[in-house]
Amino acid sequence: MQNKLLLIILDGVPLNNWPLFGNLEGWVDSGEARKWTMRSVLPSTSASCYASIHTGVAPAIHGVTGNDNVFRVDMPDVFSEVRKAGRTTGAVTHSFWSEFFNRSPFDPVRDLEYDEAESATINHGRFHTMTGYNLINQTTPSDADLFATLTMLTERYGIDYGILHTCTLDSMGHRFRHDCQEMDQAIFHMDEKLAPYISRWRKAGYEVIVTADHGQNERGHHGGRGSSQQDFAIYYFGEANGAPTDTLLDQRQLAPTILQRLGAQVPETMRAQSFLSAD
Ligand SMILES: [Zn+2]
Repeated sequence: MQNKLLLIILDGVPLNNWPLFGNLEGWVDSGEARKWTMRSVLPSTSASCYASIHTGVAPAIHGVTGNDNVFRVDMPDVFSEVRKAGRTTGAVTHSFWSEFFNRSPFDPVRDLEYDEAESATINHGRFHTMTGYNLINQTTPSDADLFATLTMLTERYGIDYGILHTCTLDSMGHRFRHDCQEMDQAIFHMDEKLAPYISRWRKAGYEVIVTADHGQNERGHHGGRGSSQQDFAIYYFGEANGAPTDTLLDQRQLAPTILQRLGAQVPETMRAQSFLSAD
């Protein structure tokens, strides 16, 4: 039986805040999950990191220099290589992911929701644009709804690879910073809403990775260099052998790791090493 995998990206959670995820931490203690620290690419800007998570190369190579420079990335990525292996993909994310890896510009009427069996990249897309976002109005969907939507894609369409990405905690960090009751409560809520779905996905045979795209510093900023802006936790639920858990992982390792777990070819452009064993 071939592996299936779900990648959960919680946008903008610095390393210091991951211990607040009590369920994730408890599964590390019980041996169900393993945890490493991962360092983002530079710039540690959201759009640049999204493109690196899926292409496995630095922004200097894929060309996404920031959130105002969004285009169809002309490189192999996780979606394209999973599709070449004949497997099915899904995405429940910010619309940038659709623009980078399927088509740009984003037409909300056409692209907020699509099911395209023959797509060379994303078969089942459920996106949100956060149009109108500012420091006060987060315009983020309910995370509980996003988790349910990804679960729908697994159960209705049997996707082999799925990604979920939510900006809630990044927006909270920009607004309130990280060492505060507002963030404690936001993470407590996120952890409680995510945990039952992790159990459900595992029972359905999926490996699960939970991580961030970048951190945030004490001023709620990211984009530059430094452990607060670049470093975050990564949790893996699955049977593979992994790198020693004190290894500092590089964000460019994520794409080839996912492809190897799914039995897909790793393209030549992805030079970083997988941090999990292939089956
Ligand atoms: Zn981000």
